[in-house]
Amino acid sequence: MIVHAAPWVVPVAAPPVRDGAVVLDGDRVVAVGTLADLRGMGEIEEHDGVLTPGFINAHTHLELSHLRVPGGQGLVPWIRRLMAARTPTDVEVARAAARGMAARGTVACVDISNDGSSRPLFAEARVEARVLHERIAPRGEPAPSPSTMMRGLTETPHAAYTCGLSALRTLAARNGGQLASIHVEEDPAEAAWLVDGVGPFADFLHERDALPSVGVPHSRPIEWLDSLGVLGAGTLLVHLTVADSDSLARAARRDCIAVLCPRSNQHIGGRLPPVDGIRAAGLRAAIGTDSLASCATLDVLGDVQLLARAGVDAAWLVRAATAGGADAMQAPQLGSLAIGKRPGLVALGDDARGLRDPIAWLAHEAADAPAWRIA
Ligand SMILES: [Zn+2]
Repeated sequence: MIVHAAPWVVPVAAPPVRDGAVVLDGDRVVAVGTLADLRGMGEIEEHDGVLTPGFINAHTHLELSHLRVPGGQGLVPWIRRLMAARTPTDVEVARAAARGMAARGTVACVDISNDGSSRPLFAEARVEARVLHERIAPRGEPAPSPSTMMRGLTETPHAAYTCGLSALRTLAARNGGQLASIHVEEDPAEAAWLVDGVGPFADFLHERDALPSVGVPHSRPIEWLDSLGVLGAGTLLVHLTVADSDSLARAARRDCIAVLCPRSNQHIGGRLPPVDGIRAAGLRAAIGTDSLASCATLDVLGDVQLLARAGVDAAWLVRAATAGGADAMQAPQLGSLAIGKRPGLVALGDDARGLRDPIAWLAHEAADAPAWRIA
């Protein structure tokens, strides 16, 4: 066994420990406490930074890593530019991006894939991946995937503006009665389309001959999804940037998980997600980066930093990027330094001795600090 010692240990499941230690047997946590109490349990390895569980990126698209798509005018113009720029996955760029995630202390991610190419790349990088196969089907049901790369993956709809009623119901049924994940309430144009059948999405879908056959549901996205019975415990609601309080309350009643990608939201639409409303509704939350097409890095600490500097509570953010991500992964062994878990162990920063509040430092500064994955 190895006793990993550091000026601060942030277990997430418990308060920070000064002059702390984490005892690992392989990658399994055997004990967490002060070095004074645990030094007899094995060989001591000293670290200079803050020890944390591995971080979890709850939403990304590794296969878009070779793209950089300008934003600023909202979601529909951004989607148009993405479609114009999209070329097949550059596997070497995606491989480097997965390794870059690991190098920043990300140990797990929920990845949205159209071609399945990300799975082996995450495995190579030692990032545990829950890869979801994204489907787009405005009319009818999505056909079973012919690709062996996609076989065995859970399917997920892209969004309520690209999947019609029967596709949403079918994808929920194929996943035990509820959607695994959906991009939702990312931009005001989505509700304009679903409530009134107007706006940039109406034009876009019309142009592409992609109008859903059932027409406009005349409800906001979450209300509509809820009325279809496709939301359930653990459904990942990605973005929620413009969700109103009624939508957030509904999502909380279904025990969905809010997945916030604030840097992507800021890039595409110039706004941040309503964290106060999400917290007030009692929604579980996790943090994602979205893809490199709309975010500068795949390090969730960058999103944590943006929200922390916008005034969001540091402890809530650190929890969302670790334990909240474990919920999104459906992987209870991840997300906190607690006995029996295998959460990965990360050291951040090169001199934590002078820190008074390691959680505030993690949220505000760690995105710019060196990182090491220890286990
Ligand atoms: Zn996305």
